[in-house]
This record gives sequence, structure tokens and C-alpha cells, in this order.
Amino acid sequence: MARFRCLLVVILCWSFGGVGVQAQRLSPLIKRVDWLRLEAFQETMTREEFQRLLDTVYAPGGAAEGLIEVGETEARIRTMLHPEEFFVLRFAKDAASAKKAKNYWQPAPKRAAKKPLTGITIALDPGHLGGQWGLMEERSFARPGDKPVQEGDMTLLVAKLMAPKLRALGAEVQLVRSKAGPITPFEVEAFYPEARKELELLGIADFRERYDGARDPKKGETVQWQAEKLFYRVAEIRERARRVNTKLKPDLVVCIHFNADAWEDHEAPVFTPRNDLHVLVHGCYSAAELRFDDQRFDMLLKLLNRSHDEELAASLPVTEALKKATELPPFEYTTGNAIRAHEEGFVWARNLLANRLYECPTVFLEPYRMNNEETYARIQAGDYVGEREVAGKKRRSIYREYADAVVAGLREYYRETRKPAAKDGKK
Ligand SMILES: [Zn+2]
Repeated sequence: MARFRCLLVVILCWSFGGVGVQAQRLSPLIKRVDWLRLEAFQETMTREEFQRLLDTVYAPGGAAEGLIEVGETEARIRTMLHPEEFFVLRFAKDAASAKKAKNYWQPAPKRAAKKPLTGITIALDPGHLGGQWGLMEERSFARPGDKPVQEGDMTLLVAKLMAPKLRALGAEVQLVRSKAGPITPFEVEAFYPEARKELELLGIADFRERYDGARDPKKGETVQWQAEKLFYRVAEIRERARRVNTKLKPDLVVCIHFNADAWEDHEAPVFTPRNDLHVLVHGCYSAAELRFDDQRFDMLLKLLNRSHDEELAASLPVTEALKKATELPPFEYTTGNAIRAHEEGFVWARNLLANRLYECPTVFLEPYRMNNEETYARIQAGDYVGEREVAGKKRRSIYREYADAVVAGLREYYRETRKPAAKDGKK
């Protein structure tokens, strides 16, 4: 459905005779884009680095064509406020003379310290809402008589297991959400007017106000469902981003998720034979996404603040530790909305709202498939200390396996960056 809306935008642009004529195009719940924030990045990056990040990480396959013109000394970026209006970004002449932009986060420290994570602030972001919101956010299922599998509760448990271990290693740790439920102050009903607009944009004229239970086959065509999506998917993530960027200001965010295949019916879930692992860094915008003024701005902010190199560097040891602990194979994207960020195949670049809006480096974790039978059995076994026989094998609690692997990966990462010898060998 999102694809359909983008198509609609493109058609609108064409009907007015080109990209620039269309008035500023914004994502839902966005009122304006403050392009002047990019002034802080004037002459901070060379043309070569800008082009490398654009082509290999953020806008592969020429996705920014017609929107960002890269010249010898500057990039001209369409802002869509007016057909002739561009934001002009001046490049640094060379790396040596590049000015320094100020970010609220710091890259991994190189100075030795007593504990590997001393001086590092980490925000743990347990994905989704959980609790009574699990069914609404379509992150809840179970066979009759079983414990509900709710991603939002599982991610919170992993975050709570990780936090004290990271603190013991010297980090300052904050949870973006510390209980079940939203942190956005808005209620679903607040989004009904915007939801009606969304349905009109989708070309659905004859829509109903409310749907009739989670199994209603046409719930996607109701104001209620659209409003709920704006609530838990858009407003909630925007509020988390506001908290991360203006209050917590961490050096790194770890987004905790569990993956799944479509399970169809929440009371009679379909199981998948697949069980795998992948980790996401930010990138891989499509041409359609870049036509949104706010997404183009968000991309440039991430590109220019250089969070990519740090988030990829931190992702690799975390991925390595998760591989070792879970023994899961890599997940493979075949949908074109992600590109490999590393040759081993476990780390991909993808444009998600959370890893787009969190301005600091963000490691986004997607291990396990919750509706794989073995994973499901492990979730049913709950959290416990030590090992137990689950699905025919002695295993640790899935939550502890996950949490401990991420802690081990981060410990390894910061231990390495602080080593003088390793430091010289690094890029
Ligand atoms: Zn998730």
C-alpha cells in the first residue's frame, strides 16, 4: 500500500510538469523540514566522501538522481519549496582542511580505560509496545492455550537483561522505553483526521470508521486501522527519536527486535521453516522515498554526520557474537529495499523510520523468527537461568542468549577500539 501512495505522488508531480513544481511533499505527521540545519555541515566533507556514501550506502542505483546534483565544489539539493529553490552544500577542498561538524554523540573512544565501556552512553530501544497493545500493533500471536508471543514484551525483557551487564562494563545505559506501552503522549483517536487523509491518498473512497475485530479482512480500509498505524508506527517512533536526540543523546542506540514471517492468523499462527539472523544499518533509500522532502533531509543529515562508519563498525562484532551464540544462518533480502553493508551477508543497509530518525549510530537487531517452531518452543519455555531441554536440545533462555551475545559484541568492539595496536590497523 505504501508503494501505491508513492506512485500517486509521482503521478501528481508529472501532471504538474516535473519534480520541482510539486509543492513540498512530506511524510505523515510532518509539518515542515528545517533545511537550514544542514548549514552546520558546510565544508565538512569532501566531494569524494559525499559521493561514496551516496552511491554505496544511502542512495544506491542512482536513487537521488534529479534531486541531488553533485558538482565539483558543491552539491545542489532540491528542497521542493519552490521549483528553483536548492539547498547548496559546499564540499571541503580536502580531508585535511575539512571543518568539523558537532554531533551530540562521540565515535568509539581510542583512549585506554579501566573498563571497556567507560565513558560511553548507550540507549537500548526495545522495539514495539507489547502489553495490551500487542494485538493492535500486530505483534502478538499464540496457539490456543499457549503464552502469547508478543515481540514488544520480549524486546523489553532482552533490554532489561542487557542494561545491568553493560553498566558493569562501564557504560551509561538508558532504556528508550522501560515498560509496556507507548511513550507518545497521543491517543489513537488523535490521528483519525490524518487517517482519513491517508485513506483518501490511497484512493479508498468508501471507507468505514472502525473494523470488526483483528480478523476483519478489510480492516486496512478503516479509519481506525490507519489511525492505529499512525499512532504506534509513526507518532511513537517520532517520540522515541525526540527522546533519543534531545534528551538521552547517546553515543549508540541498540534497537532490539525479533524477526518473523507472516503468521496470518494470531490465534492459529502459520509456522515458518526459516530461522535466521540479520542486523541493519541505515541506508538504501529508493527514488520514491527520496521524493519526500523530510526523507531526503533525514538522509543528508545521517550522511553528513558520518554515523555510517561508526554504526557499521559497531554492528560487525555484535553480529559476530550473535552468530556464535545463535548459530543462525544469514537472512537474505530479495525485495530490493535493502543492500548488503558487509560482504559476509548478515549486515544490511535499510531505511527504517527508527534508524533514520535516530541521528547517532544505530545498530538494529533482527535475530530469530518468532514463528519458527523451534524459536516458538523457546519463547514458550520463557526466561530461566542456566540450561534446559527445549525442542530436543539443552539450551539457554532465548532472552539471555540474545542479551549476552549483544553485550559480548559491544565489549569486544570497545575493547578493540581502545587497543593502540588495533587502532592503527583500523580504517
Ligand atoms: Zn520488530
